[in-house]
Amino acid sequence: MNYIEEINKLKKEKNAIILAHYYQKDEIQDIADYLGDSYNLSVIAKKSDAKIIVFCGVKFMGETAKILSPDKKVLMPHKVLPCKMANDITSKELIEYKKKNPDRVIISYVNTNADIKALSDCCVTSSNALKILEHYKDKKILYCPDKNLANYAAKTYGYDIDFWNGNCNIHDNLTVDDVIKMKELHPNALVLIHPEARYELTQLADYAGSTKGIIDYVNKSDKDEFIIGTERGILHELKKKNPNKKFYLLNECLTCKFMKLISLEDVYNCLKNEEFEITVDESIRKDAQKALDKMLELS
Ligand code: SF4
Repeated sequence: MNYIEEINKLKKEKNAIILAHYYQKDEIQDIADYLGDSYNLSVIAKKSDAKIIVFCGVKFMGETAKILSPDKKVLMPHKVLPCKMANDITSKELIEYKKKNPDRVIISYVNTNADIKALSDCCVTSSNALKILEHYKDKKILYCPDKNLANYAAKTYGYDIDFWNGNCNIHDNLTVDDVIKMKELHPNALVLIHPEARYELTQLADYAGSTKGIIDYVNKSDKDEFIIGTERGILHELKKKNPNKKFYLLNECLTCKFMKLISLEDVYNCLKNEEFEITVDESIRKDAQKALDKMLELS
């Protein structure tokens, strides 16, 4: 079967769009109507007239789309895929924390499950985190669940931030040695690192920023070589937009195994059978939307 043709037919028949995160496999990125980071894709889903949204990503991404678009059918191919960082915090733990620390503003990364967003005062993405944290700079903050981004903001700006002990293992596993080795191999290359990596790595980078930030940085740069410190899926978009530039992955381990599980066959089955639908309890959805709306207001 030619999955690409069949997927395109089903999309038209069912008034569906396909959204794919930059960390998806190349062929999934190529079939997508929109490619982006998790939050931007959810905003695209909200603005779209499509009845069905097929979200190629992990669970929190499909949930975020559903929170912002409750009237649309949000489907995820390949059942519901977890995110290690999102699962580093549970609502039970956060409720306990809030009881013990009633004076802390709860800022949660968009990489959280819906119940965590619902318990938060405001959400952030890696693109707007520093701007939003600045708004709360005179308050006591809990930033969850990514301890590395919290550490980056606390050390860079001196904010009173409590950390959750969560991380994205893909980025957290990067080391200073990785940077030193790659700089020796490619001395003319600029080092671009996602702030989910440890603070000491961001200090060695020429640029530390979100996935979209890294893509924009490369697109605008007049340099030719880049060492990339984020998930390997980003290379597809970077090479497409910059065919004459060279890219080196900071470490070959930069692969999110959950993001790589979706195949063209899964997308076809998802559209054909309208599986696997994302649902979010309405009271959780409404509270989670407040935290996302607050983010929009402040960004
Ligand atoms: S790359 Fe990290 S944060 Fe992103 S989905 Fe995978 S585990 Fe989660």
